Amino acid sequence: MTTAVHPLDKEDPLAHKRAAFHIPANTIYFDGNSLGLMAPSVHERVNQALRHEWGDDVITSWNKHGWIDLPLTVGDKIGRLIGAPEGQTICCDSTSINLFKVLCAALQINSDRSEILSTTDNFPTDLYMVQGIEQWLGERCKLRLVSEDSLLNEINENTAVVLVTEVNFRTGRRLPMAHISQRAKQCGALTVVDLAHSAGALPVDVVANEIDFAVGCTYKYFNAGPGAPAFLYAAERHLKQQRQPLHPLYGWLGHAAPFAFEVNYAPADGIRQFLTGTPPVLSLVAVDAALDLFADVTMSDIRTKSIGLSSYWLECMDKHGLLDVMPCISPVVADERGSQLAFQHAEAYAICQALIAEGVIADFRAPEYLRIGFAPLYNSYAEVESAVSRLAVIMQEKRYLNAEFQQRSKVT
Ligand SMILES: *Cc1c(COP(=O)(O)O)cnc(C)c1O
Repeated sequence: MTTAVHPLDKEDPLAHKRAAFHIPANTIYFDGNSLGLMAPSVHERVNQALRHEWGDDVITSWNKHGWIDLPLTVGDKIGRLIGAPEGQTICCDSTSINLFKVLCAALQINSDRSEILSTTDNFPTDLYMVQGIEQWLGERCKLRLVSEDSLLNEINENTAVVLVTEVNFRTGRRLPMAHISQRAKQCGALTVVDLAHSAGALPVDVVANEIDFAVGCTYKYFNAGPGAPAFLYAAERHLKQQRQPLHPLYGWLGHAAPFAFEVNYAPADGIRQFLTGTPPVLSLVAVDAALDLFADVTMSDIRTKSIGLSSYWLECMDKHGLLDVMPCISPVVADERGSQLAFQHAEAYAICQALIAEGVIADFRAPEYLRIGFAPLYNSYAEVESAVSRLAVIMQEKRYLNAEFQQRSKVT
């Protein structure tokens, strides 16, 4: 049986990229903002690293296959996709750990101030990291939380660091980074930006926006696999000013001479000083291979398709009369959102479970949001149409009321 190609997919310049991914059988996947799909090329590259590099070459691979430099070489590949020049991005640790490092660095650079300004509905780990630092540093770190709407106006001469996530994980709202950064500069505050829902999903330019530090994930829109290491960007101006170590995680691989095994810590030059311990090589290899899928596309094409998919989703929901039943809490102006949409309904959890039972993977975010993530490299317009039709049936028949869909698992 052949099915007609959706007219919007016919016109899509990225349509061919879908073939580079393993699409699970009978599955429509709209959760690439939590965990991207696997590409067979990534699978192949990891297999090769397992069999040949670890299996045959074992410890010699640190030099022979460049394992030791992977955090930097992969970091530079990410850097190209976020507007960073070479040598200023590193791939290591988790986003949470990287937040800790850059927050400490920013507080140290702006050490005559103590306020970290952020938003109440920032991603929890961002806020927890500050709370932990606050607990340790006492007077030298004070977290102040404001609403997204007032953030711009709340930046002032007391602000040491503005900590902001560009795209809200729950609502998909995209904050105006250029304005926030400009205001921060005027007030002498530094910016720490979490790009978890931006990197790989929309154009980012850390240099044009004069961002001081940035962090983000690789397992979301970069499709690097579960628990793949995160990235960390630092502006060149901060890497040059070498007064003392920029952060307190004195790991041996961030040392100026790790294999001299000196008693005392001295930070490496440049971005390498943000390394801590031994990198997770197999995961880094996966990040490396996953990033190759971005080699022949532009972030502008990705953004165009992302907006195309989300706008089409809203159009289909509207056609089925679903927007009154479960209102969209994401910005209706496409430019003001990231690559996701969120819908509010008291039964959002059960609706999400009912969708999954129909082969449509989306996710639920407490307290009552159904979240749909659009991955422009592999999602199609046909999938949008089909998923919304299934959602319409679920809502019409109130299938979400079935007891089986009310059971909550550990990870939601
Ligand atoms: C997914 C996400 C994280 C995840 O942090 P990890 O340390 O990798 O678990 C951090 N920040 C934001 C905004 C996220 O969406």
